[in-house]
Amino acid sequence: MLQKCRVMLVEDEGIIAMDVQQRLEKQGCQVVAHVTSGEDAIRTAAETKPDLILMDIQIQGPLDGIETAARIRTAQDIPVIYLTAFEDDDTLSRARVTEAFGYLLKPFEERELVIAIEMAVYKHSMEKKLRASEERYDLAVRGANDGLWDWDLKNNEIYFSPRWKTMLGYQEDEIGSSPQDWLKHVHPDDVKLVQENLASHIRGDTPYFNSEYRIEHAHGGHVWVLSRGLAVRDADGNACRMAGSQSDITTRKLAEERLAFDALHDVLTGLPNRALFMDRLKYRLEYAQRHADHLFAVLFVDLDRFKIVNDSLGHAVGDQLLMATAQRLQLCVRPEDTVSRLGGDEFAILLDDVREVGDAIRVAERIAGRLVTTSMLNSVKRSTTASIGIALFDANNLKPEDYLRDADTAMYRAKAMGGNQYQLFDPAMYTDVVALLEMEGELRRAVDQEEWLVQYQPIISLTDYKMLGVEALVRWQHPTRGIVPPLDFINIAEETGLILPIGEYVLRTACTQVMEWRRAGSPDLWVSVNISGRQFQSPNLVKTIIQILTETGLPANGLLLEITESVALRNYKYSLKMLKELSALGIKVALDDFGNGYSSLGYLKDLPLNVLKIDKSFIQDITTNKNSDTITTAIITMGRALNLSVVAEGVETKNQLDFLKTSHCDRVQGFLFSRPMDQDEVLKIASGARVF
Ligand code: C2E
Ligand code: MG
Ligand code: MG
Repeated sequence: MLQKCRVMLVEDEGIIAMDVQQRLEKQGCQVVAHVTSGEDAIRTAAETKPDLILMDIQIQGPLDGIETAARIRTAQDIPVIYLTAFEDDDTLSRARVTEAFGYLLKPFEERELVIAIEMAVYKHSMEKKLRASEERYDLAVRGANDGLWDWDLKNNEIYFSPRWKTMLGYQEDEIGSSPQDWLKHVHPDDVKLVQENLASHIRGDTPYFNSEYRIEHAHGGHVWVLSRGLAVRDADGNACRMAGSQSDITTRKLAEERLAFDALHDVLTGLPNRALFMDRLKYRLEYAQRHADHLFAVLFVDLDRFKIVNDSLGHAVGDQLLMATAQRLQLCVRPEDTVSRLGGDEFAILLDDVREVGDAIRVAERIAGRLVTTSMLNSVKRSTTASIGIALFDANNLKPEDYLRDADTAMYRAKAMGGNQYQLFDPAMYTDVVALLEMEGELRRAVDQEEWLVQYQPIISLTDYKMLGVEALVRWQHPTRGIVPPLDFINIAEETGLILPIGEYVLRTACTQVMEWRRAGSPDLWVSVNISGRQFQSPNLVKTIIQILTETGLPANGLLLEITESVALRNYKYSLKMLKELSALGIKVALDDFGNGYSSLGYLKDLPLNVLKIDKSFIQDITTNKNSDTITTAIITMGRALNLSVVAEGVETKNQLDFLKTSHCDRVQGFLFSRPMDQDEVLKIASGARVF
């Protein structure tokens, strides 16, 4: 039934018009207009907007039905059925151009009329739907910015949409229509993958074709694209056609690459991180296990005193130092080696090709040399040193972690030996390190329990052999191991920062003690206390000293501080400021172990110092080694010239003493006179008796 179909009738023969109208209404149609000329038809169609037009071809006026229909169709989307008595070819072919929805040859039956109208309405509605869907598709494609391709697999011809080409920077005519025009632009590393993805979908192994790959861009370089497609199959299931899209995913891929990079690299230095390092080490190890002649080595690099820099100069400076270190380390190795930051101030290096131990040692030496070069940090000049542990390929070590652990162990040893050096791993170290770690734990306990014993060694004047003062020397009264000498724990205490509470304990004990001796009858006695690098760098040192002097009532001339040459010269500007402060307080300072370190005599004369202590290694060979003898005499002469008292340490024999006396040394200290002793024994000689 044609319920509610609104029809306009264009018919100039009144009888036919009436007849058609009646039949239409009988079928439930509504005849919204009946006109007899082309002009009326055009105007009325615009006004009434019918669902359908029945158009006689022969009508009144200058426009015939075909022309009229054509004009209406250009303005409005209304289906037209022609009514005609003629069927000459010429008329019919003119009518066809106007996309007629049907013809009815007069005279026609009612059934024919109904069928023609039903067909026209149906066809029109389908056309509308199709158009809407095409428009939707077109919009979607343009909106998605995708390129399209349509591949006729039978003829092996492929259509690429204009967008497909412009996406890759090509002009319309620069890409042909064979699949090769596509594949030849795909990145050589990816082309195999694309071909496999295509083939497996064509075979029917995958539900659709889906491939991400790089493809050449006309303006150079590659872009990342995602290509997706679906095959159309014939009755036998063979793919005969395949069509799909191509989208530019470069931005996403770059973001993914960035994420992947970040996951495997250290943010601050950009170096590979621990995960990537371990991965490379794992592959390198597997390779070495198959090719015994290709060795490798792992270096563990840890900056010395980094924590002090970080704590005293701030994180920004610490970061700068780490970045500078990262750069320098990279300059020390070859491109195929891996420099990585494990965290904090720890770096690991994988040396890819090492023929013998010497190769790894040379790199370690190069690193030591490069790092020590002073660098400007926040306009402060400072030199960095590092402790380096080396682990070489060893067929017994099967896991990558073994190498890192061994290199770490060797590094720990280098650090315990005072830093600024490298150590080759040897299995005995492992047990040593465990012992060291235990020691660190015990030291913490010792600090809590104050397991310290302070002994005193007299410093004697060579004019009258009387004791002028004493040097305070700390010992650790270990609950099971007995007395532990300072050389066995001072370095670890220094590295862990525990030296600060230990040092304060010694200062307080020594000052209290000297004050006691002063009260007991030796009013001029003083005590010399060793100050470590970390203590000297600590901004609290002066405050602590003032507090202790106040607490104990000891005048400033009762305290002398001993710092080593390397500590004094590590940060010259700082030392100068610090020494001036101490000297203003009336506290004297001795340069300990002199002759042993930098011996930058030039610097010395500008520092406010009071005493030079000649290192005992010189004293011990003065009578046997001509060099030591010359150096000792030179130091004494120079010390006098600079108005410094000179103390010779480690005097053990009469011969040494005689030599020092003829060289006009002021003061001596050594086993020849007295070993370091407990406070009670000191009291016995404090009365002023000759010590020798
Ligand atoms: P040092 O400051 O150079 O102290 C002198 C060292 O030489 C002492 O060793 C002393 O016992 C030793 N000595 C003195 N006379 C002779 C001798 O005739 N022959 C020989 N062979 N040795 C002699 P000690 O007590 O084992 O201390 C070693 C180092 O530990 C000290 O060297 C000092 O650098 C450090 N130290 C000791 N106590 C402290 C402390 O309280 N704080 C800090 N930071 N370091 C300390
Ligand atoms: Mg000393
Ligand atoms: Mg000394």
